[in-house]
Parts: sequence; C-alpha cells; structure tokens
Amino acid sequence: MVVDCMGHRSPIALQQRGGQKPDGVCVQVGCCATADGFAQWGQTGDFFCTAGDASAGGPSGRARVQHFWQAFPTSSDEENERSTYMFTYLKPSPEMPSLVDTLEAFWTALPGYQRLDGREDPLAELNVSRVVFGWFPTYRRNAPLQPSFDRILSVGDASAVQSPISFGGFCAMLRHLPRLRSGIDLALRSDSLSRDELALLAPYLPNLSSAWMSSAAMTARPYNDRAPPSPIVNQLLEGNFKVMSELPRKEAITFFRDVTTLKTLTAVLVGQTLTMATLLPSVVAEIGALEIGEFGLHLMMLAVYTGLHTVSPDEPLPATGEVSGEDYRRSCYRDAWRYGSGLD
Ligand SMILES: Cc1cc2nc3c(=O)[nH]c(=O)nc-3n(C[C@H](O)[C@H](O)[C@H](O)COP(=O)(O)OP(=O)(O)OC[C@H]3O[C@@H](n4cnc5c(N)ncnc54)[C@H](O)[C@@H]3O)c2cc1C
Repeated sequence: MVVDCMGHRSPIALQQRGGQKPDGVCVQVGCCATADGFAQWGQTGDFFCTAGDASAGGPSGRARVQHFWQAFPTSSDEENERSTYMFTYLKPSPEMPSLVDTLEAFWTALPGYQRLDGREDPLAELNVSRVVFGWFPTYRRNAPLQPSFDRILSVGDASAVQSPISFGGFCAMLRHLPRLRSGIDLALRSDSLSRDELALLAPYLPNLSSAWMSSAAMTARPYNDRAPPSPIVNQLLEGNFKVMSELPRKEAITFFRDVTTLKTLTAVLVGQTLTMATLLPSVVAEIGALEIGEFGLHLMMLAVYTGLHTVSPDEPLPATGEVSGEDYRRSCYRDAWRYGSGLD
C-alpha cells in the first residue's frame, strides 16, 4: 500500500484530480522581524484581525481583496521581535493578485497595522530575520480526495482534508491521525485495499463541506469592472464575533478552533439571522444561490451525521490479528459519522 503524503502539489494527487482547478486559494505572506515600535505590543498577539475594508486588487483592480492579519511575540528574549502574517482568500483567476503582489501589499500595510507609521521611515527600522510566503488550495468538490487507484491513499494536504477557513493543514492532519492510523491498520489486517475500500478512509465530511460557506463570504472574486471598496467582510465578522461573545464559552472556543458542529453552527446561524438580517441579502448576492443551496444540504447532512454518531455504539476490535472486511467497513462508517459531525 502507498500512502501519499507529498503535500498539495503531490504528483499522485494532481494526477487523480485530472486538472481540477482549486475552488479557493489562501495566499499567506509574513515575516519575523525586530523593530523598536514592536515593543509596545508586549506579549499580546492577534489571532485573526483586519486593518481595513476590502479594496480593489490584482492586475486590473477587478478583484475585491480583504486582507487579514496575525501577529505574535516570538520565542526569543527580545521583546521587540514579532512574527507578523497577512493572508487573503482568493477564487483563483488571472484577475487575482499574485504572491509577489501580496508580499508588496504586506510591506506597504505593515507599518499601519502595527502602528509604526508615525516614524520617519518605518520599514527601514525593521530588521527582518525571516520572510515567509506560501499558498494553499482548497477544493469544494472531491475533498477529501477519493482514491482513483487500488492500494493508494492520500493523507494530509495531498488529500485536501484541511479546512477552507483556517487552511490549517498541519492541525487537520493531527486531528485525523487517530482515524487514519486505526483505519489503515484495519484496512491492512482485512486486506481491504481496493480503490472502493480505501475510499472509506476518505469519507464525505459534512462539517468540512459546510465550512465552505464561511470562507466563501470572505473570498475575493473577480468583478466586471474595478472592484468598489466594501465593508461587507468586516460587518459580517463584527456580527459573528458579537454572536460568539454571547455563546457559552465552550461553544465559542469550539468555533474558534475551526471545529464545525451542529450545535455551534446552528447557534451562530440563528444569532446571525436575528442580529444581521439587513446584511443577509448582500451576503446571498455575494456568495450565490447555488453555494447557499449546497450549504443547506451539507447542514442537513451534518444533522444526520450527528444523529448517527450519537446512536452508534463503539465496537472495540481486537488490537492484533486478522479482522473481517465487514469490521473494517463498520469502523470506517463510525469514524466518518464522528469526524463528519465534528464530535471527534
Ligand atoms: C506560510 C504557511 C503557514 C502555515 N501555517 C499553518 C498553521 O498555522 N497551521 C496549520 O495547521 N498549517 C499551516 N500551514 C500548512 C501546513 O504547513 C501544511 O498543511 C502541512 O505542512 C501539510 O503537511 P503534509 O505532510 O501533508 O505536506 P507537506 O508539509 O507539504 O509535505 C510534503 C512533503 O512531500 C515532499 N514532496 C513533494 N513532492 C514530492 C515528490 N515528487 N517526491 C518526493 N517528495 C515530494 C515535499 O518536499 C515535502 O517534504 C502553513 C503553510 C504555509 C506555507
């Protein structure tokens, strides 16, 4: 059996996708640097922050781009050293800003975001020790990636199991490791290595699919003319954070950890509908009826998976020796309900 863990540019994964274009891309740039002005932030950090509204970007200005920021103190003893990142969600097309454009925008906006802009030449004050840049794709369809061949299974970024909101592929892999470890063990012990049998280890996950809606609302897409500036992402986020601040802390933290469960998603949706009703028509226009309809189906499946997980008892299997194909399949279904409902 081959386990493909060659990341999102894995030749095996690309071959299986047959030229499928990603539905979303997160472009992330940043740096680790020291500057006198950073000391003002002490040990505080920003987890998810905006410093302005969405505005025109890309070569023709037809992409409406919302930049998000993160900033953290580093592990060094120097209190004026910080890691700062800027990222943006894009729907891939030639109208979108490139990685280089995004890095240029980062240097331009960094002094404003970190309040260094009162200084004579804020960028000259930066002593940069490291620059980071990268991009990650997400797929609305065929995620996690279904095996196309017998005996080949994709894991990690190659399988596109990462969330379309946080794009945290490393954390997604850690989260799915127990499921994959026991699933691969049972597949080998039951000799269930055909394409269809391995597909049970890359199951439909309604919580992953329903997370698409949140990222769709923040994703830059091309407009026919120069994109007008828009506060819609900030308004949505402000409303969302207000709703979350009123949720029980446990629920809010679940949501912040990018775990979609029926309970948290319903609470946020009800809160949004009650408090942000006037914003909803523009959000629907921005996202599109088709994606909203699909979201409704995933939400329904999230409820079904939550119910199935709740009523399905654990059936521990022997730790060694052969198991039957039936045991393997039942275990995969139980895992799919558990992980797909966010209750893992
Ligand atoms: C700037 C940036 C910030 C990030 N921040 C976070 C974060 O905060 N939280 C988080 O959870 N995730 C984060 N990620 C994502 C995270 O790094 C990835 O999701 C994770 O590394 C995926 O692990 P992987 O093992 O699946 O793939 P990779 O780490 O990409 O490993 C794939 C390996 O396969 C090798 N390889 C590729 N092709 C071949 C080949 N043909 N032959 C042989 N070897 C090959 C590559 O060299 C590489 O070593 C970030 C990524 C970037 C770029």
